[in-house]
Amino acid sequence: MKRRIFRRTFIIYAAVLIISVSVINVYLSSVIRNSYIDNLKKSLAIQTSVAAYAFQGISDINIDTFCRDIKEKTLARVTIIDTGGRVLGDSDQDVPTMDNHSGRPEIQQALTAPVGSAIRFSSTLQHDLLYSARKIEEHGKHTGFIRLAVPLTRINKSINSLRLRINLTVILAFLSFGIILIWQTERIRKFVIRVSDYADAIAHGLFRKKLYMEGAGEFTELARNMHNMAAELEKSIRTKDEEAERLNVILKSIPDALLLINMHGTVELSNNTARDLFAHGPIEGRPFLEVVRSPAFMHLIDEVKQARMSGSTEIVIDVPEEKYLFVRVSPLYYQVGELAGFIAIFHDTTQMKKLEQMRKDFVANVSHEIKTPVTAIQGFAETLIDGALYDRENAEKFLHTIKDHSSRLNRLLEDLLTISRLELGVISIVKTEVNLVDIIESVMNTVLIHAAKKDLRITKNTGQGNVFINADRDRTEQILLNLVDNAVKFTEKGEVEIGLSQEGGKGFFYVRDSGPGIPEKYLSRVGERFFRVDPSRSRELGGTGLGLAIVKHLVRAHGWDMKIESEEGRGTTVKVYY
Ligand code: ADP
Repeated sequence: MKRRIFRRTFIIYAAVLIISVSVINVYLSSVIRNSYIDNLKKSLAIQTSVAAYAFQGISDINIDTFCRDIKEKTLARVTIIDTGGRVLGDSDQDVPTMDNHSGRPEIQQALTAPVGSAIRFSSTLQHDLLYSARKIEEHGKHTGFIRLAVPLTRINKSINSLRLRINLTVILAFLSFGIILIWQTERIRKFVIRVSDYADAIAHGLFRKKLYMEGAGEFTELARNMHNMAAELEKSIRTKDEEAERLNVILKSIPDALLLINMHGTVELSNNTARDLFAHGPIEGRPFLEVVRSPAFMHLIDEVKQARMSGSTEIVIDVPEEKYLFVRVSPLYYQVGELAGFIAIFHDTTQMKKLEQMRKDFVANVSHEIKTPVTAIQGFAETLIDGALYDRENAEKFLHTIKDHSSRLNRLLEDLLTISRLELGVISIVKTEVNLVDIIESVMNTVLIHAAKKDLRITKNTGQGNVFINADRDRTEQILLNLVDNAVKFTEKGEVEIGLSQEGGKGFFYVRDSGPGIPEKYLSRVGERFFRVDPSRSRELGGTGLGLAIVKHLVRAHGWDMKIESEEGRGTTVKVYY
């Protein structure tokens, strides 16, 4: 804008000035000329009448003198003509050289009118002349014509001088008006720039900016209106922002993944859960099939589109990891009857599925674990009933087998009960100050005989003095007993060490053996219920497959951590950080 207003105003103004001056010139020239000639005609007619009157009684010899006398007084050329048109005398020219004047328009007019007049170019004088003629009458008889002529050069001079003065006045008026206009334009330009800067600031969100326009006429009102407008704008933007923020918070706090898909199949909106769930780059603006790679989901969208009713299904996605999702899709309407898109809500059921699977596995495992001893007990009992009871030697063997399987069943039921109680929270951890060294000694004494039978050395590494920690005594003893039991059970030769140590300022107790170790690929699974590296060997050794699961539970219930380090063929160390 800068100086555009100024330039435009200047151009318009200059054009108006030029047009005005030209119009005034043309108009004035014609009006003044006409009025001037009119006046001149009248005055010349009067002079002609006076001269005609004065001519009465003038003899033929004195005509030229008369003509010159009259010219002296009126400054007009005087010509006397007889009724036939012959020139009798002239103030300016030699009469004999002059042709017949009866055809001259002013003479013709004078025949019928009191005065005849005409304007004609004089080739002798090289300019226009105004002629005025009338009859000369003596005693009521027409004796000839008198004609007066004045050059029109004076008219042109007068018109030019008048025109010059008028033009000068007009230009001066225009110039003074122009200066005022320039000053006003400049003032308006500055106001407009201020308003424009203000509008620019508002457009950039600077609502606190003020527009000062005191004493600026209508601009003061404009400034007030713009302030009101800015305040209204700020209010409505703030309301919109708050609404958007509220929607954002609601979207964020929805624990399920949410996608808003438009009719072109593009994702328009998503929440954080969706971004985490389908984590492969930004979601908004991408086709939904790229985001949720599931044919079942695509079919569901198609179904909802056709039926215009909500629908749901279960889908599995495997990017970035396998997930089971329950998805519900609802049609979205912004205007009644006009389908605008779809809202899809994905509920992650992976955990539920896993728990379901675990429950199924657990039931299957328990049934399997129970079936073997029950079948054996049933089989041997039937054999005894069928007669073996009287075969003393075998009967005793069978009864021992029945007892072994019953004990196994008993251990299994006890372990299952412990796990169930731990999961139900029936077993609670009551922490008191306990001496770990005491517990280690007690556990050692319990397994000593069993270890001696296998020719295993049991050592303890507890250092000097006692170590007190906050723990549930019985449960800590159970943890250690299960770990030492496993170590003794799986180690064929060498030693089992129970000890206390520290790592990174954290104390822990451990059980280390020189047994077969656990293959690395199974390390993460050891501790799952009924998981064994070698199931038949574990059963053979009287294991239930629940020992480490119970340990894991108890460690977690104490708020501790457990770590299993093992190397195949070299041994296993289980550490419990308290
Ligand atoms: P189990 O009754 O079979 O001992 P656990 O839950 O105590 O059941 O142990 C699960 C599996 O972990 C065992 O079957 C065995 O394969 C492996 N395991 C546990 N402790 C040791 C160990 N000290 N040495 C080698 N393998 C072990």
